[in-house]
Formats: sequence, structure tokens, C-alpha cells
Amino acid sequence: KLESDSAKEKLSAELKQKQEAMKGSDGLKAMLAFREQLPAFNVKSGFIKAMTENQVLVVSGETGCGKTTQLPQFILEEEISKLRGADCRIICTQPRRISAISVAARISSERGENLGETVGYQIRLEAKQSAQTRLLFCTTGVLLRQLVQDPQLTGVSHLLVDEIHERGMNEDFLLIILRNLLPQRPDLRLILMSATINADLFSKYFGNAPTLHIPGKTFAVAEFFLEDVLEKTRYNIKSEFENFEGNSRRRRRQQESKKDPLSELFEDVDIDSQYRGYSSSTRKSLEAWSGTQLDLSLVESTIEYICRHEGNGAILVFLTGWDDISKLLDKVKANNYLGDSGKFLVLPLHGSMPTINQREIFDRPPPGKRKIVLATNIAESSITVDDVVYVIDCGKAKETSYDALNKLACLLPSWISKASAHQRRGRAGRVQPGVCYRLYPKIIHDAMLQYQLPEILRTPLQELCLHIKSLQLGTVGSFLAQALQPPDPLAVQNAIELLKTIGALDDMEELTPLGRHLCTLPLDPNIGKMLLMGSIFQCLNPALTIAAALAHRDPFILPINRKEEANDAKKSFAGDSCSDHVALLKAFEGWKDAKRNGAERSFCWDNFLSPVTLQMMDDMRMQFLDLLSDIGFVNKSRGPSAYNQYSQDLEMVCAVLCAGLYPNVVQCKRRGKRTAFYTKEVGKVDIHPGSVNAGVHIFPLPYMVYSEKVKTTSIYIRDSTNISDYALLLFGGNLVPTNTGDGIEMLGGYLHFSASKSVLDLIKKLRGELDKLFNR
Ligand code: ADP
Ligand code: MG
Repeated sequence: KLESDSAKEKLSAELKQKQEAMKGSDGLKAMLAFREQLPAFNVKSGFIKAMTENQVLVVSGETGCGKTTQLPQFILEEEISKLRGADCRIICTQPRRISAISVAARISSERGENLGETVGYQIRLEAKQSAQTRLLFCTTGVLLRQLVQDPQLTGVSHLLVDEIHERGMNEDFLLIILRNLLPQRPDLRLILMSATINADLFSKYFGNAPTLHIPGKTFAVAEFFLEDVLEKTRYNIKSEFENFEGNSRRRRRQQESKKDPLSELFEDVDIDSQYRGYSSSTRKSLEAWSGTQLDLSLVESTIEYICRHEGNGAILVFLTGWDDISKLLDKVKANNYLGDSGKFLVLPLHGSMPTINQREIFDRPPPGKRKIVLATNIAESSITVDDVVYVIDCGKAKETSYDALNKLACLLPSWISKASAHQRRGRAGRVQPGVCYRLYPKIIHDAMLQYQLPEILRTPLQELCLHIKSLQLGTVGSFLAQALQPPDPLAVQNAIELLKTIGALDDMEELTPLGRHLCTLPLDPNIGKMLLMGSIFQCLNPALTIAAALAHRDPFILPINRKEEANDAKKSFAGDSCSDHVALLKAFEGWKDAKRNGAERSFCWDNFLSPVTLQMMDDMRMQFLDLLSDIGFVNKSRGPSAYNQYSQDLEMVCAVLCAGLYPNVVQCKRRGKRTAFYTKEVGKVDIHPGSVNAGVHIFPLPYMVYSEKVKTTSIYIRDSTNISDYALLLFGGNLVPTNTGDGIEMLGGYLHFSASKSVLDLIKKLRGELDKLFNR
């Protein structure tokens, strides 16, 4: 004991000495000067005091004031200088991988160290840390997983939870756990960090914990709405109707896209009287504006306007996702507004980018060069580009929503909240007065929600439920009732039922062997199950590809004016399989071949495929493979052939698909010359017009599994695969004998198989063997 104490003292003294020496070094003078002008620096002593005296502290401050990079560092410096360096272990959680890496790298360079020494990071499947590491940035998901092994967070001295204002599901979940943990860990310090000033909500949740606000210094930002942007740019919005020729499928699509409550509100506006002072071309454009789709040419015109008419300064464009970013990236790069493309530096910024080109995003470009950053809402509060003077805001962000009644989940661009809009505007006033161009009318802004609904209230909860089970936190329902804003009990019940149906939980709501494996995969349980089954049944490649498309998106592009051709291309991939998933597999395989032969571009172009999405899928496949090898389901040294014996056998592939997608099943029923489709929850549904199965009247097999249901004017099933009843019998959910004893039922009696007793016994035996596969 004594020996280790003296070793600790020695180490603490060394750390202090090193820190003092670094502070005096020439190399760090400029860094220190930068840090000292951040608003966070002014509250340093107040922060340290409040943190020392209280177990929980809530800190708020405008984005960019120095919360993430400075506060954990203040703690670190304080602990080291008070000779507690040996014992301190500070963890700071980030909602996104990209910010965990970028912040850890930044702090290391602020301290004049290499990444992974005193400051490190840990994200899923990737880490840079060492025995020296005292401050660790990790994703919230990584910390939640760590809690499974170590529920007491042994050895952690300070925990900072960042970006809590975003109300992400993981963060809300973590806060419940921490609130219960704090009394057992009186020595643990908890600091909650939030961008906007709703600190009271969090303070109340933690028994009126003290709050600390960091006053910011920002410059005024002028604001223009669509009406003014149109007036300035003279841009003409073309009505969606002009882009369509009036056949019925197109009209249906149009109705589909017309389900946007805020945009609908604008349709009732009397443009002529409301916009009297505006030019007739602006009024015409406003009339044509529908708000359902982002007009990328309008974004381009706005960029062009700024470049021609406004002073120097970087432009930050908020878009909804990778799709828009990559399209615009190509367009802007091809179009040199001032005649010289050397004058622009166009950079994408997106959360799932494998690596960010850090320097370029943060550095000021050389004089005469303008930086244009195309970003998702990640630039709203977690990553600050300092020199932004112009913000272009499309007003939307991709958001999941969940309809518990119909068990429907979708990820769609939807209008942001007023709080987000305010954040986005603020990005323009960090170094000088700025301008924000909003590409939607003012009346839309006025109708936006004050705050966005927390994620826990608008997403399916099955992954979360698995997590609660693996952490042994008791009944899911009563645990979630302690949340900041508890989710709908119906949503909780749906999640539990789904987990029982896919065999992850037993009747007592306890984890099954399969469930325990699924807990260790940070994936939607259905996707996880597909990967496990794919590796067990030697269809690993197809399982990886389909899982990547499910977790990200499929690579098929449907250009409005060439839709028929695009559909034909997809159909030729599907052949006679009656499967969108097979089409996807073949397209992916084709792309791999084409890429090997250097024909990627023409292959994608001819077949209406997005090379960006395909590449992203390929990267995700590698990640999934790592996950499977992490939990011992795949042994990489055995090589891919060990897991792909049946990868070309479509019947086998479809059976694995069925195992993964169950209970997303519809029954195909002949109705005269056509087939109608029925689900258990919502009755009759339609096949999505973009599916290879749309327009097919007769199917060879009696069931269809599908990736998701979407509700627009009618309920559509997206990406479907025709499957046999045997696949369902063997790989589907729980079997229940029928009342009359002549068969078995599945899905609560909805699917019914008649079979002799010997066949039923055989099936039961086979399924018993199947279950044993997970019991290792
Ligand atoms: P907050 O968390 O309050 O939003 P940060 O601590 O992230 O603020 O950022 C503080 C300042 O440090 C900002 O001005 C930002 O531009 C700068 N900064 C953060 N990360 C980097 C980086 N990787 N490179 C250069 N500057 C950075
Ligand atoms: Mg931050």
C-alpha cells in the first residue's frame, strides 16, 4: 500500500512538472493566447470552485465558447497541479464519433502532446489511448457499453456529458443511470454541458443542481428569409408540377410528398396581399415554393450571390444529409462563380464521414480564397468553424419519427426547431457581424416548434430496451418512467413485444442467448440478427451488404425525369427473384467488379447507382465484419470463404433475410388476376412504386418480407422479397399450435400452416437445433 502510494505521489509530481514545463514553452504561447480569449476562460476559477463544491453541475453557453475543449482541460490541469494527477480519470462523452476524435485531437495539440498520451479517444471499434491517458473522449454509446462491465464506473473521477441540449436518446438514457448511480459514488463529479439555455430542466432533474452560464461574445447576424433571398438572387423557383409530366404514378408521388404540415400552412397564404412590396418574379416563385423538396439550384444561386456581392468570409451551408451534400459538392466544384476555381475551397462536413480533413475545415484559407463548407446539422453545435460569416440554412434536418400505433418508423428530412434555427444563425457571427440566408419563408419560421421533440419520444425503443436488459436495470417500463421525458408506454410495449417476437427476450422479459449476442452489437436488433444468421448459415457477404443498406440507405437513384429507365435497371439486377434485396446484392457485386476493372463511373451511371452510397456501404460492411469478429462469430483468419459457402444460393440468402426481417411479413393473397398484400397490424398495404415487385401481379411464393413500412397517402412496404412458407416456418417467430391441433400459428395466429404432426415435430426439432447455435 505504502509503496503504491509513494509511486503515485511520484507520478503526480512528474505530471505536474511536465505540465508546468509545457506552459512555459514557446510552442504553446500562441495556443495559450487563443485559449485565453475564449469566453470559457473567464469562468475558469468559478467553474473549478462550483465543481469542487457540488457533485453535479450544469454548464451552458453559446456554441464555440469553449465548453468542450476547455472545461475538461481545466479539470485536468487543476487535478495535475493539485498533485492528484495519478488518480484522476476524466471522461467526456460526445454524441458523435467525429466530434470525439476531433476534440481529443484539438486538446492534445493545445497541450503540445500527441493524441493518445494524456488525452485520448475511444469510439466504436477505434481507440487512441494509453496508460498515460487521464482525459478520455468517447461516444455516449461507448460509455453505455462500458457500464455493462463496470456499473459503478470504478476509477472515474469526473464525468462530463456533452451536448445534452440535443436530447439524444443515449444521453437521456445515460442521465437516468447516472442519477441512480450518484448516491453510490459520492466522490464522482458529474458535469452536464449544454449549448442553449434550458439548463433549468436538467438542474431540476438532478435535485436543483447548481448551474453555471458562460456569457458569450457574438456579433450581430442579419437575417433574410426566402422572400428576401429571392428578391436578391432573382432566382425563379419552378413549380414541382413543371418538373413532372402528368401521369398517374407521378401524381401519386406528388401527393406523397405533400404531407408536410408546415409547408401546407404556406399554401393558404394569400401571396399577392402578403408580399405586396415584392417583385412579381419573387411572388411567382413563392407561389411555386412547396417546401417539400430542397431546391439545390437555389442554394447554388445563393452561394453565387454571396460570392459576387458580399465581402470576404467563409460560407456555411446547412443541408439535410450526405445526398444533398455530395450533389452540391459536385455542382459547386464544377461551377466556378468568379471564373477561377482556385478561389474556392469547397469542403463537406458530415457525421458519418470516415475521417474529417481537420485542418482544412478549421484553418483559415489563404487570402483571396473562400471557404465553403457543406454540412449537416453537425455544424450546428458540435463542430465550430470559426471564420464563418455567411450561413445558408435550408431549414431541415433528417429526423427519425416513430408512430407507436402503427409501428412505423421513418427517417425523413423535417423542419428544424426555432432553437436549432437560432443556433444555425449564430454560426455566422463568431468573428465579425454576419448574414444568415434562410431558404424558407418567414411564416414557416414562425410556425416552427420551439424545441425539437427528444429522440426518446420519436424513435423505436428496441435497441434501448436490450440495453436496459443487459445492464440489469429491472423492468424496462418502470426504468424508462424515470426519464427526463418518459416515452409512451405503448412504444415501450411494442419494443418488448418485438424483442420477444424475434427471440431476443423470453416470456419473462429476460435476455435469451440470442438476445445476449444482440446486446453486444451496437445495431438495430433486426440488423444484428441478420448478421448473426448470415455468419452461421454461410451467407456472410449478402448479409453484410443488405445490413449495410438497411443501416444506411440503398444505392439506387431515381432521377425524376428518367425514372422508368432507372426502374428498369433495378429490375434487371433482380432478374426473376421478386426481390429488391437481391437487386441490391447484384448491384453491389456488379459495382465491386466494375471497380476492380476501373469502370466504376460508367457502371454507376448506366445503372443509376450512387457511387458515394456504395462506397459508404462498403465501409460499413468492414465495420460490421469487425463487430462480428469482436464477438467471436467470425474468425477473420479463416478467410471469407469459410463463411460464404451458400452466398450464391438465393434460397438460402432469402431464408437469412427472413430471419433478419421477421416480423416484417405480409401475406400475398390472390385476388383474381392480381395479388393483394396484408399485414397483421394495419391490414391491406401496397408495394412501394420504387420496388421491383411493383406492378407484378402474380408471385410464385405466398409471403413477402420487407425492410420498412412507410405511411404517406397509403401504407407502402419498401424493399420486399418474396419468400416461401418453409423459410418462415424455420426462421420466423414463435410457433404456437392451433386450437384445432392441425397446424401451427405464428404472429399471433395471423399466419397459419396446416401440416401433419410428424412434419410439425420435425420443424420443432430443427428450430431447437437452431436456437442452440446461439448458446455458445
Ligand atoms: P463549445 O464546446 O463551447 O461549442 P469548443 O470548445 O468546441 O466550444 O470550441 C472552442 C473554440 O475552439 C472554437 O472557437 C473552435 O473554433 C475552436 N476549435 C475547436 N476545435 C478545433 C479544432 N479541431 N481546430 C481548431 N480550432 C478548434
Ligand atoms: Mg461543444
